[in-house]
Amino acid sequence: GLRKKEVNVLVVGLNNSGKSTVINNFKREDDRCIDIVPTVGFNVEKFAYKFFNLSIGVLDNILFMSIDTGITHFPSLPFPSLTRICTASDKLRLVVVKEELDMLLQHPDVAGRKIPILFLANKMDLPDSLTTVKLVAGLGLERIQNKPWHIRATNALTGEGLQPAIEWLTDQIR
Ligand code: GDP
Repeated sequence: GLRKKEVNVLVVGLNNSGKSTVINNFKREDDRCIDIVPTVGFNVEKFAYKFFNLSIGVLDNILFMSIDTGITHFPSLPFPSLTRICTASDKLRLVVVKEELDMLLQHPDVAGRKIPILFLANKMDLPDSLTTVKLVAGLGLERIQNKPWHIRATNALTGEGLQPAIEWLTDQIR
């Protein structure tokens, strides 16, 4: 029969990188999303949690959680699956993203575990956005050997790239 698995997805990214827009994209009741995860029981809550503004969206039994910054300040990560979003156009803050990523990868709840990491190079529509190839190099993603990872250029406004990205993620956590 149908077996429902509860999966928690942690969405991490710089402020203004498009996390809420990505989540809202899944909130919309369009057919593409319904194919992947039913929209039954979806809701989003925003509230302040510790030092962060969190927005949590529950899409069927998948939990999306977005944190503006400072993942490294979490005492422990309660969520086994992670999605990381960065902004493809934000070259100046790439260093910040790399630092946060390094901290995240070294986090005791993350380091030894085969947690799939999906990188969304969002705002691909902006003329100065970095290519995924440049982001792989800039963030040093090739060094992530013990976790499946994937990078996709996305446009959260139109939804471009999000479908294949979320398909990759659901394949990993099936
Ligand atoms: P958050 O702080 O990470 O949750 O970012 P938001 O989802 O609030 O998005 C910040 C701003 O970027 C909003 O004005 C969005 O409309 C815009 N935005 C989000 N995704 C994209 C994108 O792919 N392309 C462009 N051009 N703008 C985007």
